[in-house]
Amino acid sequence: MAENICILGGGVIGLAVAYELTNRGFTVKILEKSKCGGQASGAAAGMLAPFSEIGEDPDDFFRLCLESLRLYPDWIKKIKEDSALEFEYTNSGSLYAVYHEADILALETRKNWQNRWGANAELLIGDELKNVEPELSDEIIAALYYPQEGHVYAPGYVAALEAACRKKGVEIYEDLGHVELIETQPDYNVLQSSNGQTFTEKQLIICSGAWAKELEDVLSIKLPIYPIRGQICAYQSANQSISHIVYSSQGYIVPKENGTLVNGASEDIAGFQTTVTEKGIQRLTNWNHKMFPFLKKETPFHHWAGLRPATQDGYPFIGLLPNQKIIFATGHYRNGILLSPVTAKIIADLIEDKQPVVSIESFQPLRFT
Ligand SMILES: Cc1cc2nc3c(=O)[nH]c(=O)nc-3n(C[C@H](O)[C@H](O)[C@H](O)COP(=O)(O)OP(=O)(O)OC[C@H]3O[C@@H](n4cnc5c(N)ncnc54)[C@H](O)[C@@H]3O)c2cc1C
Repeated sequence: MAENICILGGGVIGLAVAYELTNRGFTVKILEKSKCGGQASGAAAGMLAPFSEIGEDPDDFFRLCLESLRLYPDWIKKIKEDSALEFEYTNSGSLYAVYHEADILALETRKNWQNRWGANAELLIGDELKNVEPELSDEIIAALYYPQEGHVYAPGYVAALEAACRKKGVEIYEDLGHVELIETQPDYNVLQSSNGQTFTEKQLIICSGAWAKELEDVLSIKLPIYPIRGQICAYQSANQSISHIVYSSQGYIVPKENGTLVNGASEDIAGFQTTVTEKGIQRLTNWNHKMFPFLKKETPFHHWAGLRPATQDGYPFIGLLPNQKIIFATGHYRNGILLSPVTAKIIADLIEDKQPVVSIESFQPLRFT
């Protein structure tokens, strides 16, 4: 396989893949239309929460998320060392909250199967729950406590990944405008940027997030991948007593160490628009006092939005095309921050012709073609 590798897209996935590859001795470049981390990756709440996110059954996606959570501590340690940048990373633990007695049975079932996968989840009811998170609303009658879940400050993590990549010699081309794959041959690919630069590359890795669908025609494959807008807001609350992520069916609150409470997130279809709407933020603010009543009196000081790369079946595209010269690493939807280390390791393993640590059978990029 090629020693020189080109990555299309400088979000968390492109940067993580570049970082891992450069650590394994490859020469890497990233082509980014605007700024690294400027899209979904910089907008994320940063939760590392596979047990809260996946409650139904332990499918391949759950296993992928679990492996990535396992990789996180060492991964972050190394990035902090290499970048010499600090950013928030915490195993705060999380509470998966429910409002109805009938839901307790479902929590029990969830706890039982997830504990077989090492969740160490505990079912907390009534006072037990209040002791763990005293400001929680009385409307929440029970929660699963997941001690291993946590979060990162996503913009800080992405900035450190970028800095670590630069220090290791990754060439990062930003502000290229739209970069188009104009020709693909068995042993090379030609990309052209709208600002007039041409790149001829043997090995190409597609990390272009919600924009990957635009490659369907040139590659003659089907890539059902769509942007799902997430609107999200933050409070600079006087109440600093919250210590866990609180996750409910209608939204979540993530307490950051800078004192803000991040409240997310909508899931709406708005094409590639990243505008914030009154309705989108209102849906969050109308609900969040059902998690923490004191929020009813507070107003978010900041709101923003990003485009999650969603695929038709909810699974990412991770794998090689048959010519082995194009590799996909995109479509991570709600979990790209969590999945960045495992994706980076898998892609580097594929390039080195090694068996990835986790099965990627379900994530093959040609599964819709
Ligand atoms: C509100 C919100 C909250 C979220 N919360 C969480 C969370 O708590 N935990 C979690 O794990 N995940 C979360 N996510 C999901 C996570 O942010 C995404 O899964 C992840 O950022 C996807 O990373 P990416 O690198 O694939 O995409 P992106 O960050 O979108 O990066 C893709 C990059 O490719 C570039 N690009 C695209 N096409 C081209 C082209 N033709 N030429 C040049 N450059 C191109 C873009 O400019 C962009 O920079 C959240 C997302 C949102 C929106």
